Amino acid sequence: MTLNKLRHPIFGPKTEKARKLFPPAPVPPSPKDPKSKRKGHGRNKASQYTGARRLKVTHPTLKAQDPCRECPQGTLHPVKSPGLVIRVVGSPPISATVWELEKLRCDTCGTVVIMYFRQFVVHNL
Ligand SMILES: [Zn+2]
Repeated sequence: MTLNKLRHPIFGPKTEKARKLFPPAPVPPSPKDPKSKRKGHGRNKASQYTGARRLKVTHPTLKAQDPCRECPQGTLHPVKSPGLVIRVVGSPPISATVWELEKLRCDTCGTVVIMYFRQFVVHNL
């Protein structure tokens, strides 16, 4: 006797299907207005971390008025908007740190020098 033949007298015939008992819910019409679609990819801007500790990080070897490394006649100048790195730590209570990485821009070739972040992390761990 097979398992299926044994199951029939015990549980009865299989006549009810789940899809017949519980038909799928009607699919709501998709929104045609593109403005209703949420923007972004779940990331937050650095400005949204209002309670975050902010640290200014200067370049370890370069400063404003230094000669550019990429061209012979350029000079580095500070850039207003710093490079931002956000690190959110999940220990209770949650806290965040925003590092403002100094950026220097050459006035001749436009090269932007920013401090290498991995180096910064290693020094602060
Ligand atoms: Zn340059």
